[in-house]
Amino acid sequence: MFTMHDPWNTFETRFQNGRYELTSIEFTVTNLCNLRCEHCAVGEELLEKEGATLPLDLLLRRLDEIESLQTISLTGGEPILHPKVVRETIIPLLRYAKERGIHTQLNSNLTLPLSRYEDWIEDLDVLHISYNYRDVKDFHRITYKRFDREVSLSVAEKRFEQMKENAKALTKQGVFVSAESLLSPFTHQHIEKIHQDIVEMGCQRHEVHPLYPSDFAKGLDLITLDQYRDTVTRLLEIRDPNVWILFGTLPFFPCSDETTDRDLWLRLAQEPNVTVRPDPDGRNRLNVNAFTGDVIVTDFGDIPALGNIRQDRLTDVFERWLTHPVAKQYHCFCPAAHCTGPNILVANAYYPDWDFHTRTAKVAVGN
Ligand code: SF4
Repeated sequence: MFTMHDPWNTFETRFQNGRYELTSIEFTVTNLCNLRCEHCAVGEELLEKEGATLPLDLLLRRLDEIESLQTISLTGGEPILHPKVVRETIIPLLRYAKERGIHTQLNSNLTLPLSRYEDWIEDLDVLHISYNYRDVKDFHRITYKRFDREVSLSVAEKRFEQMKENAKALTKQGVFVSAESLLSPFTHQHIEKIHQDIVEMGCQRHEVHPLYPSDFAKGLDLITLDQYRDTVTRLLEIRDPNVWILFGTLPFFPCSDETTDRDLWLRLAQEPNVTVRPDPDGRNRLNVNAFTGDVIVTDFGDIPALGNIRQDRLTDVFERWLTHPVAKQYHCFCPAAHCTGPNILVANAYYPDWDFHTRTAKVAVGN
């Protein structure tokens, strides 16, 4: 199992090749989910029933065409909700990846019985979960917020306990579980307790991301940059040093005019067991909808599909995207600072007036 090596990180390939390269594919393998979290970035896409996926052969053929492929992510909805999806899509894709030496991640809410994870988990590299709660009341309020009917606290409690027990059992077996917290007006106040729970579940990595204002989360308030900076600092002070902390799509940059933000960037580069992951979407990754074949740059952006795997090679779609005006707008690169620019939603939310192409890093980090 890898530790501190993050094959989803965009920096290495951009630095080594002098250009972005398609190294990562994310498949949306279901639009079904047993939860309706208030922060769900694909909430509007969720369905009660869904049809058949495209033939597996087509998915595998499109993957075969990507020589540079290093990672595959599987997402939903809840990918393992339907056994047919596990049997006919997830297991074959994981086995394919294993044979090619490709790293894999599956995003799950981990609330189903443990037996549902057991017959495929050994082929997976990263089990990615969300964790944004202090207790069952928070879980009940957050994960059923957008459900179309009332769900009792006792039902929520069963799911919550199942998730925690599953995480403990799987991490004990050596499964790498990465728990993500989205910093919101609620979670930023409780990051200490959230981190402590993640440590107690045995998770080897705590991912910290901004709340992405997309789909269900569009109406939610964002925290300020001051609150974000303060939360990162507090977390660094109290964290378990044995747990890897990954800051994803951090809303601070080495070209900042604020000394505090540049200092934070430098501090994160030096902290043991801490990494910063720039946004992979559209820099090394494309998302493929396994039902429609549509290819998009992110699973929650408002940019229309750039192609379809029924007729397009994924490398061709990626090359097309690199010439798209939106890509050009945000694909700045400052190698000495190890920065590959902002996530589009983060840039729009926090830096609407910045022209990233006229900026440049004011600090450099060591190798
Ligand atoms: S200009 Fe872009 S790549 Fe350079 S530091 Fe700023 S955000 Fe990062």
